[in-house]
Amino acid sequence: MRNIVLILLSLGVCFLIPGYSSGEDLYQLAISSGNDLQTIGELPIRYFGRFQTETEDNILISIDPLKTDVLDRLKSPYRKLATASEGKTFFWIYPNPRKSLPDPLLSVELARDREGILVDISREEAERLSAEGFPIRLMVSLPIGIASTAPKSLMGGRKGWVASPKPVIQEMMGQVTESQVYTYTGDLTGVWPVTIGETPYTISTRNSYRTAEIQKAGQHLYEFYKKLGLEVAAEEFICWDTLQRNIVAQKKGSVFPERIIAITSHYDDMPNSIPAPGADDNASGTVGVMLAAEILSKYDFGRTLRFINFAAEEQGLGGSSHHAWKSYCSGEDLEAVINLDMIAWNTAGSLPDMEIHASPMIPASLDLSELLQNIIEGYGLGLVPSINKSGSGRSDHASFWGFQFPALMATESSKDFNPNYHSSRDTLSSFENLNYYLDMIKAGVALVAHLGGLVEEGWGYLGGKVIQAETSEPLPNVSITIQNPSWGYALSTTTDGNGRYNQRVVSGNHSLTYKINGYAPKTISEVLVAKDETVTRDVSLLPGNFYSLIYLPLIIKDYAPKKGCP
Ligand SMILES: [Zn+2]
Repeated sequence: MRNIVLILLSLGVCFLIPGYSSGEDLYQLAISSGNDLQTIGELPIRYFGRFQTETEDNILISIDPLKTDVLDRLKSPYRKLATASEGKTFFWIYPNPRKSLPDPLLSVELARDREGILVDISREEAERLSAEGFPIRLMVSLPIGIASTAPKSLMGGRKGWVASPKPVIQEMMGQVTESQVYTYTGDLTGVWPVTIGETPYTISTRNSYRTAEIQKAGQHLYEFYKKLGLEVAAEEFICWDTLQRNIVAQKKGSVFPERIIAITSHYDDMPNSIPAPGADDNASGTVGVMLAAEILSKYDFGRTLRFINFAAEEQGLGGSSHHAWKSYCSGEDLEAVINLDMIAWNTAGSLPDMEIHASPMIPASLDLSELLQNIIEGYGLGLVPSINKSGSGRSDHASFWGFQFPALMATESSKDFNPNYHSSRDTLSSFENLNYYLDMIKAGVALVAHLGGLVEEGWGYLGGKVIQAETSEPLPNVSITIQNPSWGYALSTTTDGNGRYNQRVVSGNHSLTYKINGYAPKTISEVLVAKDETVTRDVSLLPGNFYSLIYLPLIIKDYAPKKGCP
């Protein structure tokens, strides 16, 4: 019974959420301002996500053919892409840098973004394209309202803060060793047997439809995290009639356990035939997540760190859609998602290029990307990072973008595309530059370490009272941003009804910025907090015509009921 309930709750991806099957027409709608979004959000339509063409921002929606007159009330231009029919599936198909998209596919193109094309094809056809080496993404209807708020910036608007490397993070990066990377990759790709459930087993494939084999791979990951002493769960969902499992491990934060930093990879692979080693795609990212868990679990972090290996990515981002949807529906404060997909391929002698993909719709994802770039430079890693501000939607981070979570993808260069992509030749022995692979993992580990809020020097408290300068009345709801240069982000708190605030902070030097509409903002810096000390700073604010931008919380927790949530 329990299992049945569990499975019912976890139905949702690949079948239920896509839901473009109820006889609705599919439209592309150009958007120009937040006001448009507000209006559109109130219409009886379903939302399938945003995309950008060279010239404009668009959203994809579906609507009952009898209600299309509501579109005429909008000022935005729209275009019908497909007519109502039962059981249709739509996929985004992305070109492979070594192969252009087949002509017959181009002739059925419905829409095109900066990267790929949207087509109305069957699941079987889409998976055949995936097997030929074209990344696919199932178009999933999102349960959210369209007019969502921009996620807050983790860094409080401050840039370039990794001025010098932190020795303790350098020490963590030093724990990414060639022998471990080699061993873990060989374990996952069937180079030698591994012990799974106390029995030696060789993982010959991690293809989503090879149920027995991929379950073993999932169990291997589950046991790995369990051994590290982490909480682990196999998160089950149904995708295309098969039971799939994301492996989710977690280390609770010691200060703000509700704030979560996730590092992710998909562990399923291609081709459909055996062997399917999938060493670069994506044992490499998975080994990155495993090592991040192994190394970071030895340290104390303020935030919760989550280590996720997704299933069914190759079927259209199944596992990540499921997880992102669940996170959204349960109101999780998922502050950053770092997705590693294909991080081991670098042709010998070529530049060690690294691509970082951010979403132009989510400024916080760009902040994250700049932080990663900063870390690579600050720690002198042998990588040449470049940020794609209008990043690719072809991997799991895109599922999080769909729910407005700040996410990025770190990946190898598409200009040096792996010639063994989605073939049985994608093996550990094919890798030409293990140092590149190691540095990609180190970058991921360091980024999570910076974001996690390392509890290194101990903790103290910062508190005080904020008053109106002329009347000395206490000021409630003042937004206070606290920055500590040794942290990778800003903390924020607000004053209570008596104008008081009290925030636990890592010891060290801080700067505090006080903001509330109608008052001149104030910043005080060089506030030193020693371990176990409480430092008080009382502040008075002068009234005036000042308006400040206050970042809204990422998740509006009491926004109920949420569209599309169980
Ligand atoms: Zn992949």
